[in-house]
Amino acid sequence: MNYPYHYKNGRLFCEEVDIAEAAENMETPFYLYSSREIRHSCQIIREAGSPYHFKPFYALKANYNPALLKLIREEGFGADIVSGGELYFARRAGFVPEEIVFAGVGKTEQELRAALKEEIASINIESEAELLLLSRIAANLKQKTAIAIRINPDIDAQTHEYISTGLHSNKFGVDAESAMQLYRMAAADPWLEPEGIHMHIGSQIENGQPYVDAARFLLNFIERLAAEGIRISTVDLGGGIGINYEDPFEKPEKARTFTQHILNDYLAVFKNRSLKLFLEVGRSVVGSAGVLISRVIYTKTTPAKHFTIVDAAMNNLIRPSLYRAHHPIAAVRKETTAPVVTTDVVGPVCETGDFLARERALPALKEGDLIAVGGAGAYGQSLASLYNLRPMVAEYLVDGSSIRKISPALTPEELADRFEW
Ligand code: PLP
Repeated sequence: MNYPYHYKNGRLFCEEVDIAEAAENMETPFYLYSSREIRHSCQIIREAGSPYHFKPFYALKANYNPALLKLIREEGFGADIVSGGELYFARRAGFVPEEIVFAGVGKTEQELRAALKEEIASINIESEAELLLLSRIAANLKQKTAIAIRINPDIDAQTHEYISTGLHSNKFGVDAESAMQLYRMAAADPWLEPEGIHMHIGSQIENGQPYVDAARFLLNFIERLAAEGIRISTVDLGGGIGINYEDPFEKPEKARTFTQHILNDYLAVFKNRSLKLFLEVGRSVVGSAGVLISRVIYTKTTPAKHFTIVDAAMNNLIRPSLYRAHHPIAAVRKETTAPVVTTDVVGPVCETGDFLARERALPALKEGDLIAVGGAGAYGQSLASLYNLRPMVAEYLVDGSSIRKISPALTPEELADRFEW
């Protein structure tokens, strides 16, 4: 299937929607998502899992817009949550408890209690203290619960240090020896059912090798457990599959290239094993489906640099500031005659770290021009804030030739109403 963002006569389309034309009636900036691309990403994941006893779960943290949640649920995904808030959103979006898994190093008593009462598919334990607390709550409620222990394999996922999670220096999971001890404790506990094992080694991983190493590590550990009589039926493989943040507008064949080859290699390690495989994916489901549309406010040249100042900022898309992440940027209306300039695309926020791109060669943009920032469907709006009292912007969903608003902007005026004045 073709990538949904493409140019027709120099105008950028999302599926059959002419973005510049649609934007005439909208306030910028806004997020725009393609339903077709989300369905396509779901299909690739389902197909890779089809030879196995496989269930994909969508990580709500990547983007929790209810319209997207419903779409992804209809594609046969469960929900991967990390907070009581995400449990609430997952349930409201119609995910059934048997298709919800819960990870996170700091689940509170209240959150564990809520997950237990809902009887979700698995609570993924990340420390001895958490295991003891869950055991107490389960005994108190006289309710059994399925659990997995999140094991930290000390494998370098070769990604940005802030989103690497499978090293012993990271806060996540427990090392193999501690995990063994926790399984023994859980196996002896009348209220805990240690059915699964969980691992998640990081995010935006582009290379299959760390996954294959991690999978072998898991299999070896499962055999050690079996030798002690502890039988695991489910392996939660985590998520973290990277997307291609290179230019999908100019080189659509390069969009979304990592999922297939990573999953094929990763899952193949479990061939001929009678294990249920769970996958928890966020970015690879929604990342390539979204763009942030923004308008140029000013351009400015200093003795050192050229700046393109746009109306979207780090409060809308923090990934460039936080991880120095690269996002492709394209003009929504391509001027073939425009000279190329090397520019910093920056927002109005009062931080030098507020930029969407640095030293980027782009056709010269002028005031009023629209830009599309690609690869913005995941960890875009879900990491947004009202910093500098700037709104969290509206979101729109395209399906074929239709476009609909799926969330209004959250404005400083609405924030103001929560305070006493
Ligand atoms: N599972 C867990 C435990 C996570 O922490 C994350 C992300 O940080 C994910 C799944 C989803 O990762 P991604 O969006 O990179 O697929």
